[in-house]
Amino acid sequence: MSKAGGFHHIIRRLSMSTYPQPTAERANELVANYNRCYDLVQSIAKQYRPSPVRLVAVSKLKPSSDIMGLYNAGVRHFGENYVQELISKSKELPKDICWHFIGGLQSGKVKDLAKHIDNIWAIETMDSLKKCKKLASLLDGSRAPINIYLQINTSGEDQKSGFSKDDLQELFDTVEFLKSDDCKHLNLKGLMTIGSFAESTSGDENQDFRCLVDIKAIVDEKFKTNLELSMGMSSDYEQAIKQGSTNVRIGSSIFGARPPKGT
Ligand SMILES: *Cc1c(COP(=O)(O)O)cnc(C)c1O
Repeated sequence: MSKAGGFHHIIRRLSMSTYPQPTAERANELVANYNRCYDLVQSIAKQYRPSPVRLVAVSKLKPSSDIMGLYNAGVRHFGENYVQELISKSKELPKDICWHFIGGLQSGKVKDLAKHIDNIWAIETMDSLKKCKKLASLLDGSRAPINIYLQINTSGEDQKSGFSKDDLQELFDTVEFLKSDDCKHLNLKGLMTIGSFAESTSGDENQDFRCLVDIKAIVDEKFKTNLELSMGMSSDYEQAIKQGSTNVRIGSSIFGARPPKGT
């Protein structure tokens, strides 16, 4: 979660040959964008909380060479939305990348995530007890535990995934499962949400983020946890940090606009 640059430039030449590389111009652009976001994230974070906020660089639909441009400067946390794209990138890129899966999680793809990506660091979009149990049953301790964020549909929009914000029973059952002795290879890390477009542009306190903060308080109290909050994207991360986010997911402000999926 550090700023790009520093001593990493020295070891950069060593890794240049084997991985896909961006042009020098593109690398400079990416690092400048990342550092601009990083500085803003940490300067806001400093006013609101004692520890730094994790910046996840969301690289979906962007080439592996872009990822290497930031990797060479020391960035390790990257977010991807599509299982097949994540599998192919993870195969061709360095193994010390900490991948965050942040896309819609289909039951049929849980196995691919568990089996094909050794260095998956977090699944941020876990949205049912059933998928959680399925994932747990596929892991045997041969790899580091996977961090799990439970996604909450705080805006209540039909097209968004996540546990219900109104009936918390399944969320409670899932937290209980994750904390039980039956579940050694998953680590409950926090809660995650995607704010609605309307809330991200309102300019006032974001009610979706507020909802996630309130649910965290309930879960922390009930289960004696201290959950992280993954909330905030390019359009609303400043507000998210003000409201307590510990993990922001930023794509277009670092990599530029994305091509439409499927091109
Ligand atoms: C694409 C995506 C992001 C990044 O979005 P930007 O607006 O490009 O910063 C963050 N979180 C999730 C869940 C996403 O799907």
